[in-house]
Amino acid sequence: MTLLELRNLTAGYETGQILFGIDLVVEEDEVVSLLGRNGAGKTTTMRSIVGADEPYISGGAILFDGQNLLERRNYEISKLGLSFVPEGRRCFRELTVIENLELAANYALNPLRIETVLEQFPELNEMQNRQTKNMSGGEQQMLAIARSLVTNPQMMLLDEPCEGLAPYIVRRIESIIENINAEQNVTVLLVEQNVAVALAVADRHYILDEGRIVKEVTSERLHEDDTLRQKYLGI
Ligand code: ATP
Repeated sequence: MTLLELRNLTAGYETGQILFGIDLVVEEDEVVSLLGRNGAGKTTTMRSIVGADEPYISGGAILFDGQNLLERRNYEISKLGLSFVPEGRRCFRELTVIENLELAANYALNPLRIETVLEQFPELNEMQNRQTKNMSGGEQQMLAIARSLVTNPQMMLLDEPCEGLAPYIVRRIESIIENINAEQNVTVLLVEQNVAVALAVADRHYILDEGRIVKEVTSERLHEDDTLRQKYLGI
């Protein structure tokens, strides 16, 4: 079953149009990545889906679980079961691990038990009362994912979850994403600059270039095709 569908989506900022007709489909239980160079429009696509204040959507449709998201406000969208983990983590820095998770649970329609979520994050379980600002980048990223998971989402959008993290933490985040998908049946759309991460966790990939989807490929194809990676991803 199709869970998320973007049809001919056009969007941009006051400074100009950025997305020029995005078509993208994510089936239930898939892990799909959205790849592309800096400035290709990946974050703009994510923000369009979740109804952030910016960008402005000028055309097309976004359907989630059969509902038109363009008619919904940002807070309604999270209640439909779509959760966004933005770039740069953005947990409340002065709050502790447990306080951040409680806050997320309070706003959710049908939250999971915090203890249940923490079972999957032993690192966080051991630092429940630590203030977020005193945690490493990797720990903060785990908290951002845990906070999203507490809301019991049907689908999670992750914007560059591994950016700036050490390789061993990147492996850990990859396995968390795999677990969330396999054990908790959360469908995932992942934005990445790091193709290795996308290849490790996603089944299918959309390549975005200058606001247009230029390719849709399987992991096998992306792995084999050096020319494709060089042309659109610069590697
Ligand atoms: P990155 O990895 O750098 O985040 P990206 O593919 O996610 O790249 P976007 O962040 O979507 O790209 O940016 C696409 C274009 O939109 C860029 O040219 C960027 O400068 C522009 N842009 C992003 N946010 C805004 C904004 N709030 N106002 C105006 N222009 C913006």
